[in-house]
Amino acid sequence: MMDKKYCLNCGSLLGVDCGDAEPDYSEHYCSKGCYKEDEKEIPQVEIPLDLATFIKNNPGANFNDYLEEKIVQRFIKENEKESGE
Ligand SMILES: [Zn+2]
Repeated sequence: MMDKKYCLNCGSLLGVDCGDAEPDYSEHYCSKGCYKEDEKEIPQVEIPLDLATFIKNNPGANFNDYLEEKIVQRFIKENEKESGE
């Protein structure tokens, strides 16, 4: 007997003879619905490295504090550019 395979989305057994039920959508998904469901999984969010550093250096700070800090830094940078050289 072959290895049992399960739907990657809902985990139901694939390749079983289920009479009138619709056949497996693919070898990984039991139905088209499950295939689509898995497709729209939450995308990986990339956390900026400096955010991690900022939170480390400022325990208790939240994301808004980080954004504020970014804005301030950017403001300083732009001012430096204008006054320097
Ligand atoms: Zn499924």
